[in-house]
Amino acid sequence: MFKIILKNKNKIRFLGCLGIISFLVFFCGFSVFAQVKNIVIDAGHGGIDPGNLGKKTQEKHVNLAVSKLLGEMLKKEFPKINIHYTRLTDKYVDLHYRSRIAIDKKSDIFISIHCNSMPHENPNRKNVGGTETYILALQRSDDNLEIAEKENTPITESDKQFFLKLKKDKFQEENQILISLHQQTYLENSALLAQKIEESFVKNAKRQSRGVKQAGFAVLREIPNVSVLTEIGFLSNPTEEDFLMNKIGQKMIAKSIFLAMKVYIEQKE
Ligand SMILES: [Zn+2]
Repeated sequence: MFKIILKNKNKIRFLGCLGIISFLVFFCGFSVFAQVKNIVIDAGHGGIDPGNLGKKTQEKHVNLAVSKLLGEMLKKEFPKINIHYTRLTDKYVDLHYRSRIAIDKKSDIFISIHCNSMPHENPNRKNVGGTETYILALQRSDDNLEIAEKENTPITESDKQFFLKLKKDKFQEENQILISLHQQTYLENSALLAQKIEESFVKNAKRQSRGVKQAGFAVLREIPNVSVLTEIGFLSNPTEEDFLMNKIGQKMIAKSIFLAMKVYIEQKE
């Protein structure tokens, strides 16, 4: 009798688990395979935060120019998709406000545009070049946070608080399984998009790809959907700086990202 009750209890538990899993698969699957309706383009840095510095330009200007070009291309090709920007002028936008825009606008894709740079102490800094596209790393290793801080240096007090919270969260393991299950689904799609972007840089802009990478970028962390951060070249490399400052170079980069996103969006339709 006891055994039968136990078996029944296990059965109920099993069915309960199955129900939860089915719900999660349906819920995540539904969101993942849904059509793209909203895209948020995030031009990294701005205003008091110049980002990486080249000899002739500042990262914030290149990021904004490429973001605007990308937005125009997407709008023209997909008039029904809403294109939102975190900034359209040279102004500083808080990191948490950037992800807030993505959440408020229900972004199906969030793309953050940045330029890379090698540290001054690196003797080879002028020769290092290429593109790399990041997706969120779920495991918050110290390495991940180090890369993340390089791109997302907190400037305002609210950003500093935001970063402190992230570091505190690093050691909190609770809810990790549920968060992972939810984010894992989006992560796979983010990786797919990131891979397409890197391939497109090689094919359409003749760039050298450094591959798809993972880091705990603050700007990606809060976004509950597909999100990537792309580094479109090195401003510490004079040849790449010239390319990225030039209107033709900027158009080639924007077009490469656009073509990759186009393939991704059409797959969803
Ligand atoms: Zn940057």
